[in-house]
Amino acid sequence: MHTVEIDWGPPDGYEILEYQLSPSSWNRYEECPRKYWLSRQGLPRKTGMPIVVGNTIHNSVEDICNLEIIDKGDDEKNWLPKLAKKTLDHHWKLQKDIFFNTPRHPKWKQNSYNKAVEGLNKALYMLLRHVKIDNVKLSNVTLNMWKKIKINILANEGTMNSKCGKLMGRLDLLLRDFDDEGNESGWIVVDLKTGKPPKEKLSDTINRQLLFYRDLLKLINPDHPPMRAEGWYTSNQTIHEATGPSVTDTALATHSLIELTNTPFQATPEDFTCGFCEWKAWCPSWLIGIEDGVLKKGGRFTNEVVTLANFDSEEGLALFKKMIPDGQNGNLKDSGEKFGAFLTNQPLDQLRTLCSEGYEGALFIGSARIDGETRHLGDWSEILPWNPLLESIR
Ligand code: SF4
Repeated sequence: MHTVEIDWGPPDGYEILEYQLSPSSWNRYEECPRKYWLSRQGLPRKTGMPIVVGNTIHNSVEDICNLEIIDKGDDEKNWLPKLAKKTLDHHWKLQKDIFFNTPRHPKWKQNSYNKAVEGLNKALYMLLRHVKIDNVKLSNVTLNMWKKIKINILANEGTMNSKCGKLMGRLDLLLRDFDDEGNESGWIVVDLKTGKPPKEKLSDTINRQLLFYRDLLKLINPDHPPMRAEGWYTSNQTIHEATGPSVTDTALATHSLIELTNTPFQATPEDFTCGFCEWKAWCPSWLIGIEDGVLKKGGRFTNEVVTLANFDSEEGLALFKKMIPDGQNGNLKDSGEKFGAFLTNQPLDQLRTLCSEGYEGALFIGSARIDGETRHLGDWSEILPWNPLLESIR
């Protein structure tokens, strides 16, 4: 095995800039510059169970891989499942606390714990497979087998900063790579993915994210060996290699575009991006997009901007007046349409709170399920004050 020195940059004397380009900020900027701008305004964050599950798996893998196991015999078995459960339980609890401290969160789903257990086990099996230990149950993994994994992990949750201070990324795992004859051939940057695996090849966004990690590590380590980047999808235990030329120059060019301005960046409304955007209550452009026919209307779930006509707080029944845009700045006018809605869980609590605080302004309704003439707002929905942001509040 080669001894490896990895530089994570920057050395003393280099300044990390106030804003840096990371794969997630780059993606957000590419999807919609306004989305990126809004994400940097300190607005109330949103979380959900997939984030809890993903973070629990990532943090558990990190801890297990970092642990120096000194109290086991080389051939001892039955220790890894216990260690995995203890570590996972610790992180599950931490994530639960973060979940409830995040202002916008749905109902806690304890049964997602099983997904976290399954994801962690699968990640451990993928690490075993990387060192050619196959068809061994976690309970039969000996310390000697684990040492094979440990010696191949060059780094685990490493934060990289480019020496110019403009680029940053946090990689999950850096592993030794081997050729078909088993000879050490370089490094593999591994990003653990707990979401939906690709059907065939990586999406352009994920591919670019993995190349970003690969190329940033190359930039900081000019004497690097051959290097590849892979996405490891725990749900079906598939590995997808990122392909393509260096993205460093494009990343550096993008960095110059993301410096925050007082006025919002351009909005580029698009059905998929707006559908998953968590900042709609602060963005007038999607509502204008619907009115102008740029975004599709209809579907089983809908987003609305409304005023409250009537609310039975006890029963969770509300009557809303539907509003439409009046100009480009988030001002509204009455559409003349009304609809009734059944509210439970998070949106019901949110509306009760707003009413008890005396809020009388327009409301953003996220993800109402359409059922004939009425709407259902449950755990998947939210109600927030309509608050289009026209200048920075940072
Ligand atoms: S709602 Fe759509 S247009 Fe507005 S910031 Fe989000 S993605 Fe961009």
